[in-house]
Amino acid sequence: MAPVKISIIGAGSAVFSMRLVNDLCKTKGLAGSLVSLMDIDETRLNGVYDLATRYVKELGGDLRFEKTTRLEDSLRDADFVINTAMVGGHTYLEKARQIGEKHGYYRGIDTQEFNMVSDYYTLSNFNQLKFFVDVARKMEELCPNAWLLQTANPVFEGTNLIKRCSKIKVVGFCHGHYGVHEMAEALELDMKKVDWQVAGFNHAIWLNRFFYDGEDGYKFVEKWIDEDSKTWKPKTPFDLQLSPASIDMYKFYGQMPIGDTPRNGSWKYNYNLEIKKKWYGEPWGGADSELGWKWYQERLKMITDAINYLSTNKSIKLLSLESYLKFLPKGSVPEELKQEIKVFTSPTALSGEQHIPFIDAIVNNNIQRFVINVPNQGYIPQIPDGVVVEVPATVDRNGWHVEKIDPPLSEKVIKMYLLPRMLRMEWALHAIINGDKEALIEFLVRDVRTKSYEQAVKVIEEILSLPENEKMRNHYSNKQKL
Ligand code: NAD
Repeated sequence: MAPVKISIIGAGSAVFSMRLVNDLCKTKGLAGSLVSLMDIDETRLNGVYDLATRYVKELGGDLRFEKTTRLEDSLRDADFVINTAMVGGHTYLEKARQIGEKHGYYRGIDTQEFNMVSDYYTLSNFNQLKFFVDVARKMEELCPNAWLLQTANPVFEGTNLIKRCSKIKVVGFCHGHYGVHEMAEALELDMKKVDWQVAGFNHAIWLNRFFYDGEDGYKFVEKWIDEDSKTWKPKTPFDLQLSPASIDMYKFYGQMPIGDTPRNGSWKYNYNLEIKKKWYGEPWGGADSELGWKWYQERLKMITDAINYLSTNKSIKLLSLESYLKFLPKGSVPEELKQEIKVFTSPTALSGEQHIPFIDAIVNNNIQRFVINVPNQGYIPQIPDGVVVEVPATVDRNGWHVEKIDPPLSEKVIKMYLLPRMLRMEWALHAIINGDKEALIEFLVRDVRTKSYEQAVKVIEEILSLPENEKMRNHYSNKQKL
């Protein structure tokens, strides 16, 4: 099938841009392909385009890059579309969060039971969710057979919404399942001997299978809890796989929450900063507290600043970047970024993101195992078919083949976590698909932070009155259908 056209929407993404470029340039099976970088922010677009074209040259690869600010141009005749765009950016998320806090909703109205991740907005994120649908519908016209690799959040609500509004083949991507590797490392287990499976929804996955060298792997978790949990301290705000919240969820549900899932517990861990610190560790109180999220934003800014700097200093050899680090003041480059630079400067190392290996599997039948978000077809029998689930699957030129989820998810995971989480997705989708403002308000009435109906109405009205929410305002005022 190669060469193909791959369109990256929101190509300036701080999280994904250079990781995707890294993987594309090192995937030999995609030689001769065209990568169309699309973003509305010309500075970011130019920066990524400049680095991508230099990088592929330095690696001696055979890929063509083009750049555009027009969505249609990028989508036309694409075979794969990766959507990493965040409409309104982090600025909008902060604005909406501040309005929420003003009205008594700590960390904003979109922070909800089983969905506390700070860039995973489902209620006030009309522009983003509408954009997901617009991309899918434009794909129906311009590249109807292409695959949509949905990466921008909220992946759970987004993939379900796209499935309900369009016929495009959509698959959701997340890197959260690497929590299994983090856990194995902390338990000092050799990952090659770990037999594992995770299943659930995006940001809501559970370790249903865990064997180590043929033995029950959970024995090692229990041992770690007995011997080491008291001295646990997070290295970063995202180091949560073995946090007290995670262990508490494991004890309650009977299976281990993986990756972003411990961030998405109940209110119990999230009432306020002090409570968050108790469950997610000092000093940050996890990734989604005001302190943890500030830390994250600073890291993202370092990446976009670095892309800017490198794109304006064209004499710097990208493959030698690691050697420049020694000229910078000690401690000025955080360990996680050094790790990313190490991958970037290696001639063969991939980022660990699944998108490009997934494309390689489809295009070249380079069969691999992934954890992907696809419509349920009895994989998790208690979840209705058609609802998008996050499950392990092998992928080949014929598409995905989901593994039998064995052993099954625990009864408590199903009844007390996944089903309530699924209903919250259904409520949010009902509101947006039908322009039903009362449903948005009712969602908040069911929120433990709401003390009166008026409080819920006021916060929704103030968010709707933001200038950037004009379309959202019209949509909900006129009960428009999506
Ligand atoms: P970012 O703001 O750095 O990047 C988003 C990019 O989208 C920007 O370059 C912006 O200019 C562009 N954009 C905005 N509106 C656009 C439009 N209408 N058309 C085209 N491009 C547009 O954000 P980020 O922190 O890199 O995150 C990007 C997305 O990825 C977010 O939705 C985030 O929640 C999500 N995310 C997903 C995962 C995952 O594993 N799936 C992990 C981390 C972040």
